[in-house]
Amino acid sequence: MRILDTPEQMHSVCAEIRRSGRRLGLVPTMGALHDGHLSLVRMARAQCEVVAASIFVNPLQFGPNEDFSKYPRTFESDCRKLESEKVDLLFAPAPASMYPRGAKTFVEVADISDRLDGRSRPGHFRGVATVVTKLFTIVQPDLAFFGQKDAAQVAVIQQLVRDLNLNVEIVVAPIVREADGLAMSSRNAYLSPQERKQAVILYRALNRVQTLADRGERNSDELIARGKEVIAEEPSVRLDYFEIVNPRTLEPVSDLRNCALVAVAAWVGGTRLIDNMLLSGAGEAAPGLGGKE
Ligand code: AMP
Repeated sequence: MRILDTPEQMHSVCAEIRRSGRRLGLVPTMGALHDGHLSLVRMARAQCEVVAASIFVNPLQFGPNEDFSKYPRTFESDCRKLESEKVDLLFAPAPASMYPRGAKTFVEVADISDRLDGRSRPGHFRGVATVVTKLFTIVQPDLAFFGQKDAAQVAVIQQLVRDLNLNVEIVVAPIVREADGLAMSSRNAYLSPQERKQAVILYRALNRVQTLADRGERNSDELIARGKEVIAEEPSVRLDYFEIVNPRTLEPVSDLRNCALVAVAAWVGGTRLIDNMLLSGAGEAAPGLGGKE
């Protein structure tokens, strides 16, 4: 695996690959890799001749009181994992090479960036959209792989690609979970053993909503109320949001006639966790999941 640490180097290596006509896939990450990340890498490996991953803890997507400085950084073991998945290129730039002094250009996807996590984390999706645009410009991948775990991020990126006519196919991979259902996340490393047990309540709440929807409940307010009841069974877990939205626009939907996304964010101790499930309405297939935009 070749490791490149400046945009210029990465750009020229990727340009050479494109000239050779090989299909290039990109898996953007912030490192602290787990099986969720590796599922994206495996999907990329199956679909592309050349696989590039990036590890960049993007300062622009963290708020002033968020966990940028304590975000887990495990570069050596990440490299070993990527090597064993036969990744060809790793782009691991320093913040100063991605955002040199004097940089003044940002990418903002209006409206959608203010919903779900964007509402709780002002500026977060501006940081995400900016770094993803830069990564796409540097690498110019044929395909880029993202996890359904970050459903709002997927919606923002799909909108970005449409609006800016970016020539990249977005592939969305299903959520990888621990044995008890907790969605894998680099931030799970922050949880104490007790918090780790409590954290599974997010999955249980989503599951309750899915079961009720499968049994025919179509009213979002009712489903949200029932989901929130489950979260309340764990009094030390503090809810941020519990919403049922259109997975493409992230706007709330009042009933489940069409495909809908049920999404939750909650604080477990000092750790903010997110999770979601796609609920398909009568006769509708869920968009995005494991598929191509
Ligand atoms: P991150 O390093 O948290 O920025 O995540 C990098 C990519 O991995 C994003 O596209 C995430 O959505 C995806 N990802 C993170 N956790 C999971 C998971 N449990 N299952 C599937 N994809 C995931």
